[in-house]
Amino acid sequence: AGHTAEALNACWIDIWYDLVQRSHWSTDLAAVLSEEFSFGQPPSPEPDMSWWVKGPIKELLRNAGSKRDGLLLRLATLLGTPIDHALSSKLYCSRQDLAQLVADGIEVGGHGWKHRSLATINDDEQQKEISESRNLLDTIKAPEPRSFCYPNGSCNDGVETQVATGGFSTAFTVEPGFIEPGCNPYRLPRFMVHNRPADDPEWCAAFHQSTKELL
Ligand SMILES: [Zn+2]
Repeated sequence: AGHTAEALNACWIDIWYDLVQRSHWSTDLAAVLSEEFSFGQPPSPEPDMSWWVKGPIKELLRNAGSKRDGLLLRLATLLGTPIDHALSSKLYCSRQDLAQLVADGIEVGGHGWKHRSLATINDDEQQKEISESRNLLDTIKAPEPRSFCYPNGSCNDGVETQVATGGFSTAFTVEPGFIEPGCNPYRLPRFMVHNRPADDPEWCAAFHQSTKELL
């Protein structure tokens, strides 16, 4: 994706995570969120980290579209933690790093260009997201066949077609599950592992449910 170190801006979701980190889960952040964004009292990050990384604020930002930069800027100002413009180079691999991964035999796939939710944008914008992603893979000499991963899992039939004609042989959703014979290759399920302990209840529940369905 456009998640490379030379990107002018880090992806919005990474800016949000960075703001959360740098505000140190402060009570200020909780107050700002409940007052400015009407979220009520946010839960403590421990043990409910998922509210912070996947919950309503991520949803709000995900749906904010063109208003997103303004919202992030406002949050940053209210929190007194300016958006770090060097974030891209701190968080992401450079093209050279990615090319080295490919040379070392690691598969690198497509993930869009600006991490836009593909089902929510028009055909031309989808095409741009997918072709820029393919161009990046070309520059790092990623071999074919190539796989794609829908940002935020956002896809529909039109997006599927664009990805299929845009140079990708398979694509992953964010639905948990095993890949079985007969799966649509452009709607492959997967398990998100995250940085979780092996006995994380949410992860175990998703895994066991999928195993049951398979048996
Ligand atoms: Zn992503």
